[in-house]
Amino acid sequence: MSTDPHCLFCKIVAGQIPAQRVHEDDRVIAFHDIHPSAPVHILLVPKLHLVSMMDVQPEHQALLGHMMVLSARLMRDLGVTGGYRHVLNTGKDGGQEVQHLHLHVMGGPRPWAKG
Ligand code: 5GP
Ligand code: ZN
Repeated sequence: MSTDPHCLFCKIVAGQIPAQRVHEDDRVIAFHDIHPSAPVHILLVPKLHLVSMMDVQPEHQALLGHMMVLSARLMRDLGVTGGYRHVLNTGKDGGQEVQHLHLHVMGGPRPWAKG
């Protein structure tokens, strides 16, 4: 399934739910996390509805590579120069709450709210 009408992040991709967007291209959107754990906390979300890393296949290699490369550019554009952390939660035991694959990128001066 490429989109799920009941999925929160598919609704954000479609513009049905607002988000503070920082990037959009043909494959990915990025927006600020609604409950940031760091001064800058963004989520990179593929437009394709993949539930989690457990859905990922070899055909998604370029998409995931694009997200990683894009993440560095976005953090630089957001003025984060001192470093940042990537987090990608997968499944129940991985602490994933939203069932649409997303990459957290957190940075900015410490201390952070968590971690
Ligand atoms: P997970 O635990 O699934 O890896 O992370 C889900 C993240 O999505 C959480 O950090 C949470 O704050 C964020 N989030 C949940 N709902 C919304 C929303 O409606 N808008 C935005 N911008 N972030 C959300
Ligand atoms: Zn979705």
